[in-house]
Amino acid sequence: MYASDTIVAPATAPGIGAVAIVRLSGPRALEILGAIFRPAHFAELTPRMMRLGDVVDPATGARIDRALAVVMPRPASLTGEDVAEIQCHGGPFVVRRIVALAVSAGARIAKPGEFTRRAFLNGRIDLAEAEAVADIVAARSDSALAIAIEQLSGALSARVAELRAQVIAIRAHLEVEIDFSDEDIRLPSRREVAAEIERLIADVAVLHDSFARGLLMRDGVRATIVGKPNAGKSSLLNLLLGSDRAIVTAIAGTTRDVIEDSVQLGPYALVLNDTAGVRESTDDVERIGIERTIRSARDADLLIAMFDSSRPLESADLDVIRLTAGRPGLAILNKRDLPAAISAADLRERGLGLPILPFSAINLDEGTTLRAELSKEIVALISGSSLVGVGPEPSPNLSRNVTGEGSEAATAASAGNQIAISRERHRDALAMALAALKNARTSALSLMPPEIVAVDIMAAASALGSITGEVSGEDVLDAIFRDFCIGK
Ligand code: GDP
Repeated sequence: MYASDTIVAPATAPGIGAVAIVRLSGPRALEILGAIFRPAHFAELTPRMMRLGDVVDPATGARIDRALAVVMPRPASLTGEDVAEIQCHGGPFVVRRIVALAVSAGARIAKPGEFTRRAFLNGRIDLAEAEAVADIVAARSDSALAIAIEQLSGALSARVAELRAQVIAIRAHLEVEIDFSDEDIRLPSRREVAAEIERLIADVAVLHDSFARGLLMRDGVRATIVGKPNAGKSSLLNLLLGSDRAIVTAIAGTTRDVIEDSVQLGPYALVLNDTAGVRESTDDVERIGIERTIRSARDADLLIAMFDSSRPLESADLDVIRLTAGRPGLAILNKRDLPAAISAADLRERGLGLPILPFSAINLDEGTTLRAELSKEIVALISGSSLVGVGPEPSPNLSRNVTGEGSEAATAASAGNQIAISRERHRDALAMALAALKNARTSALSLMPPEIVAVDIMAAASALGSITGEVSGEDVLDAIFRDFCIGK
């Protein structure tokens, strides 16, 4: 239900900062601001003009803070309602005091996501755009920002609307058949209707299948380093992370004893899984690490397989080769500064399919090459190509077992340029639309009455409509806005 009261909340994160923003929205927002804010030089606040003044307690007349305030009258505001904001000094106590003053003056503390929810309910943004707001806040890489801002700008919504319009056009054809079946006019044949549905199925499937790419762009590519003890896994990890200390984030897992480190490679985040496992002492790795490594490798999008070129191949190396079978990744033939006991050819002979990079993890200068090679594998993965040999210029020292013709380079360059979905809710809605369209195609071809075909066509339209919120229940809205913070 749409609540039409006036809400208030800090719009900035709790804690100390230079500035904090307290935001009000609702029919009494301007009146409440008028009660607690006194402009220094003007009697009235002009819409969308920042004014300096004092926040005051109307009960006592006491001044609370010197601040800036702005009013944004409806309907052209964030929420579509009257909105007022106070930019005060960024201390938790002063912010609490100002929120409390607004509450005494008649506002209610906002629930998580309630501002954005009101923006949706007032038609200021659609549901996919509201979700994009949360994605921008959560973004950890340029690619995550790119996919979210594209969604916020309405690119996904426009594509979904286009598909939905095509579905509705099919229903129009069916309605002609329902209404005029007795008359002597030319109706689209069932074959034509089925062919149109077929085309739509292909288009909806493209968007549905973009989920894998969208998720990699949004959350980063998860990689696991595998290799026998002493192959140089920790050294490689330190080289990767150390070269980019400034933007490394360490995330302590809460449910499992897993630590992830993430490093920025070009526009993408490479999330290194289970780095705690890699850093453990050799004994521990042997005792408990194997199973965990296998599990972590199974979850990874990309494997980094380490081999020690200064030592003969052992059964543990063969295990690593087996683990990488059919998986995307990069093999590192480490310790090339030492006399070689094995070569890339030996690994190939034992069935290793990954590109192989001769390497020395103790040589800091090699970090650049490593990052470049990993970036190429990420681009290949994200552009949906699992072929090895992707990339415009093959590196002179990189050994690959298949050489691709350059045509994938274009795909690699355009990785992420097409619209992609990155939310399970969108993927599920598209899957429902696909299932309904397939049913419609079957009924169209088996000459079912047009009313029956129309039921599935309408189910497809409403599944597509649920992405942008054309049709959505309270439960869906609750689930979406619950993940927002208060004040958003
Ligand atoms: P992990 O057990 O796979 O994590 O291996 P570490 O990274 O701990 O490395 C094992 C040993 O090999 C350490 O003494 C490293 O300094 C050494 N090491 C790692 N990479 C290289 C390399 O490229 N060349 C040489 N000479 N030593 C290396």
